[in-house]
Amino acid sequence: MNISVEGKSIVITGSSRGIGRNMAVKLAKEGAKIVINYLNSRDKALELYEEIINYNKDCLLVKADVTKQEDVKKLCVETIKGFGQVDVLINNAGICSDNLIQLMTERQWKEVINVNLNSMFLCSRFFSKEMIPRRQGKIINISSLKGQLGSEGQTNYSASKAGVIGFTKALAKELGRFNISVNAVCPGFIVTDLNRHNESKKHAAQKMSVLDIDNSMEELLNFILYISSNAFRYVSGQVFNIDSRLFDISRLISL
Ligand code: NAP
Repeated sequence: MNISVEGKSIVITGSSRGIGRNMAVKLAKEGAKIVINYLNSRDKALELYEEIINYNKDCLLVKADVTKQEDVKKLCVETIKGFGQVDVLINNAGICSDNLIQLMTERQWKEVINVNLNSMFLCSRFFSKEMIPRRQGKIINISSLKGQLGSEGQTNYSASKAGVIGFTKALAKELGRFNISVNAVCPGFIVTDLNRHNESKKHAAQKMSVLDIDNSMEELLNFILYISSNAFRYVSGQVFNIDSRLFDISRLISL
C-alpha cells in the first residue's frame, strides 16, 4: 500500500499550536507542501515554519482569522499563488469556552460556534471552488466525540462539533459528483492548550477508555496521513473516531 502525500498541497487551519501543529510536522516530513495558518500565536507559527523548511522547502505561513470571509479569501489566494492548487483542506481551528448553560454568556456561545463551525463553511466554500473545476480534492473536518455524546459545561462546543458532523455529510453529498471527498475525524482526548486546564474532563476521558495505553496523538497523525494520501480514495461523508472511549452503560447501572 502506498501511503504517500509527497508533493500534495495541504492547508491546515489553526496549525500554530496543538493538534494542527503536529499534523503540519507529520505531513511535511512525509513530503507534503504545507500551508500553516495562525491567528494570535505568531511566534509559535514562525518557529514551526522554520522547523518545517529544514526538511521541506515548500511551506507557507498565512495569518488569517478563519471566521472572517476576507481572511479566508486571503488564505485561499496565498495558497494558490504559492502552490498552484489545494489538494487537502484540513479544517482544524477550534476553541472551547466552557460554562453551565445558566452561566454561559451569549458571547461565549457565539464565539465557539463561530470558530468551530462557521469557519468550516467559509473555508470549505472558498477552497472547494478551486477543487471543483479540477474534479479533485479532499476536505477533512476535525469534529469531536463530544459532538456525538455531549459534554457537561460544553453545550456550545458539543453543538458546534455535532454541527460539523451534519455539515460534513451534507457537503459530501454536494461535492461527491466532483470527486471531492469530505470526512470528519474525531480525535481522542489529547492534552493541548484547549483542555489542559480541565482535569475533570481528562479524568472522565480516561475512565471511558477501554485501552490503558494513551497514544492518541500518534494514532491521529497516522490516520490523517492515511486519509490525506491516495491510498484513501473512495470514502466520503463518514465520521471516524480515533479513540478507545466507549460510553459504558453497565457502569452506570452498577452505581
Ligand atoms: P489548541 O491547542 O487550543 O489549538 C487551537 C488552534 O486553533 C491554534 O493554532 C489557534 O491559533 C487556532 N485558532 C483558533 N481560533 C482561530 C481563528 N479564528 N482563526 C485561525 N486559527 C484559529 O487546540 P487543539 O486541541 O489542537 O484542537 C484542534 C482541533 O481539534 C479543534 O477543532 C478541537 O476542537 C479538536 N479536538 C481536540 C481534541 C483534544 O483532545 N485536544 C479532541 C477532539 C477534538 P492561534 O493560537 O494562532 O490563534
